Amino acid sequence: MTNALPSKVTIREVGPRDGLQAEQPLPVAMRAGLIDMMSGAELPKIEAVSFVSEQAVPSMAGAPEVWSMVRARPEIAYSALVPNRRGAEAAVAAGGFSSLQAFLAASEGYNTHNVGKSVEESLGDVAAVVEVARAAGLPVEVSISCAFGDPYEGEVQPSRVVEVAKRVADLGAVGVSLGDTTGMANPAKVWELVPMVRDAVPGLRINCHFHDSRGAALANVLAAMEVGVEEFDSAIGGMGGSPFAPGPNGNLATEDLVAMLEGMGIDTGVDVMSLFTAARMVENMIGHRLPARAWRADYPEHGWEALPHNPNLPGYWAEPEDGAG
Ligand code: MG
Repeated sequence: MTNALPSKVTIREVGPRDGLQAEQPLPVAMRAGLIDMMSGAELPKIEAVSFVSEQAVPSMAGAPEVWSMVRARPEIAYSALVPNRRGAEAAVAAGGFSSLQAFLAASEGYNTHNVGKSVEESLGDVAAVVEVARAAGLPVEVSISCAFGDPYEGEVQPSRVVEVAKRVADLGAVGVSLGDTTGMANPAKVWELVPMVRDAVPGLRINCHFHDSRGAALANVLAAMEVGVEEFDSAIGGMGGSPFAPGPNGNLATEDLVAMLEGMGIDTGVDVMSLFTAARMVENMIGHRLPARAWRADYPEHGWEALPHNPNLPGYWAEPEDGAG
């Protein structure tokens, strides 16, 4: 009937980085608290911070301060996103990460808008990150964004993604995360691309990073599992979306992913009730409702309306008055 599905799936929580970078800057202690909440939910991998330009991404400023406040647990693999040599050096200096996450796009359009460089130039940055990480004894994984489509160019040919995956593997990356930055993936694209990457670079770890812009993220997870993918990125509450990919582009919500997988009998090791609680706290932290659905379906009595709004928090979202505008 179907291909064999994995009995166990690894989830990498990206909310503290990919999620919060799309929000107004939060206090350092709150960002550390979010990482601790994700650790408390037993997520096995967490992308904790990014060492990027504070001018380019103000919400991610102060990574060393955030990281120093985190109560890191030894059984959890925390990673840092780094754009280049300088970022990698800062992450290594901060210490305590299990791996570094480099990134680039498969397509010129998004890469130019995101980092102001050609894909070829970004490959140079990946090489520098690998060099710094290797000297520190750390593995590097590479996020390949726009692997299923580019907001400026439209379709991205799978052969281009395969080429980028090959190049980063040649540079020494141990894994790639195929990013659907724009939510343009569908199961047929997933069935096509994943085996192509695996055939071209046997042994390279493949993670999939789906966005739910068009509602296809969970379908894409199923498609990816059918072709052997056993690791996925997701963000608590469905936070996130690149500022360089216009439109509603939230990440797949971690609690929705866990709820579906556990319901299918696929072990994630993640405590979904902790995620439900954390998602409510995150909504209060960022001051607006998040798109995740599972907990609202299971606990409708604890809807957004029940949240104790705190107008002193950054990003406070005031409810429109009845009859207003
Ligand atoms: Mg994302």
